[in-house]
Amino acid sequence: MHSADICQKTAAAALPLAVTLSGDPIPPVVAGLPKNTQSLCPECLAVISAREYEKDGKVFMTKTCAEHGTFNDIVSSDVRIFQEIERWHFRDGQGFSEPQVSGAPHCPSSCGICNQHVTHTAVANVDLTRQVQSELHHLLCRFKHYTV
Ligand code: SF4
Ligand SMILES: [Zn+2]
Repeated sequence: MHSADICQKTAAAALPLAVTLSGDPIPPVVAGLPKNTQSLCPECLAVISAREYEKDGKVFMTKTCAEHGTFNDIVSSDVRIFQEIERWHFRDGQGFSEPQVSGAPHCPSSCGICNQHVTHTAVANVDLTRQVQSELHHLLCRFKHYTV
């Protein structure tokens, strides 16, 4: 067995239950092409059915809004990279036990962060205001004073 397969199986075995920490079901991640999924109409932002498929070595999405017509987008310019990324997908996290928005019926109905959300923080940006910087400066000065 390839070491990458072992790593993938080990990660899969350690996966949590398929519900968010606030109790909502986590839909399974569907891999492979072609596949049906959901997307947004870029005009009215309605949730509409979409289909992803391979063509000419690329991955495309096609979707039709009853009001605004059909849209075709390139999802990935290289189907091999797309499939490799899917192979390394270990499913998502379990979201939040106390999301900002509760009772959201589906994604993306109530962004910000809702009970349906499953991914966790990968990179956190913390904006420091001038007041926080000032507080940190005072703390560091006091720390320096006590440790010298
Ligand atoms: S927070 Fe936004 S992106 Fe996340 S599940 Fe809710 S609606 Fe979707
Ligand atoms: Zn539309």
